[in-house]
Amino acid sequence: MNKKAIALLSGGLDSSLAVKLMIDQGIEVVAINFTSPFCNCTPKSAGCKHQARLIAEQLGVEIHMLPKGMDYLAMVKNPPHGHGRGSNPCIDCRIYMLRKVKEQMASIGASFVITGEVLGQRPMSQHKKAIQIIEKESGLEGLILRPLSAGLFPPTVPEQKGVVDRKELLSLSGRTRRPQIDLADKLGIKDYPCPAGGCLLTDPIIAARLRDLFNFMPDFDMSDIHLLKIGRHFRLSPDLKIVLGRDRAENERIKIHMKQGAVFIEPVNFRGPSVIASRFPGEEKERMIGEMIVHYSKDMFDEYILSIQTVYEEISTFSVQGKADSEAFLSFQIGPVRQEHQLLDTHSH
Ligand code: SF4
Repeated sequence: MNKKAIALLSGGLDSSLAVKLMIDQGIEVVAINFTSPFCNCTPKSAGCKHQARLIAEQLGVEIHMLPKGMDYLAMVKNPPHGHGRGSNPCIDCRIYMLRKVKEQMASIGASFVITGEVLGQRPMSQHKKAIQIIEKESGLEGLILRPLSAGLFPPTVPEQKGVVDRKELLSLSGRTRRPQIDLADKLGIKDYPCPAGGCLLTDPIIAARLRDLFNFMPDFDMSDIHLLKIGRHFRLSPDLKIVLGRDRAENERIKIHMKQGAVFIEPVNFRGPSVIASRFPGEEKERMIGEMIVHYSKDMFDEYILSIQTVYEEISTFSVQGKADSEAFLSFQIGPVRQEHQLLDTHSH
């Protein structure tokens, strides 16, 4: 067994500390960071990978980025070990990542794996039974070293073989972050906290939108997944979903996700949200969508004119007379209705 390991580096404090503890023992560490459409750390800039790159640079370790692709989404749809309180399949997510890491071990020349897991810190994936399942099903039994909690687990193979000194490893457990913050100070590690939260799969609105997508659009692709993170979503019928932008930037962004058969509806003589609808809505639903767009407009007119266009830019117009008071359309909203600009309720790694 050599002194080279792959570390799962999320960019959060725990995995950063785990890597640092290993480097200080003379272990050569290569970091792997998984990128995901559900990462919510720095959505307007470079994404979570930006944080991982920063910390890898700080620690002086090589870093590889691996995307969680369509195979990951297939797992999220139907995870053998179930979901958490949102659509987060944490146990299967860890198994997925560790299996991918295992596939990289030979080419990287690593003989074991490091993670920043702390026993008992996360309700779903970091209690002892879950950790045993994850280890067994990833095919890495005895080869996953958790430097922050190692003292609470039986010695791993690298400890047994003397590649890693068990006496230098920690026995942290539970949800308190104080010991990690103190250790970061001591080891000179700069924390890059994730300002917006972390994993969108734990967000109840994203979870509801994802369930809706899995139910009504089995042939979804990554563009559909990215669209889940933008605007307001309504299902008006089994084959008609609409997404309204909440501001000018979102009005532009939703248009990028238009597909063959979809239509784009936008205000002509007033300011208000743009909409993409998954198909031509027909007269009755067209009126309803028009009224919704008008509802979210701040402009007050007698007649609101809207245009409707296909991906081929065939344009027609229709109009809505006055503003309706009713918010009955909210019953079509997918998932809980959230207040404007309410922060996403996610948790980070
Ligand atoms: S919270 Fe973490 S472990 Fe759970 S699904 Fe999200 S990324 Fe995976």
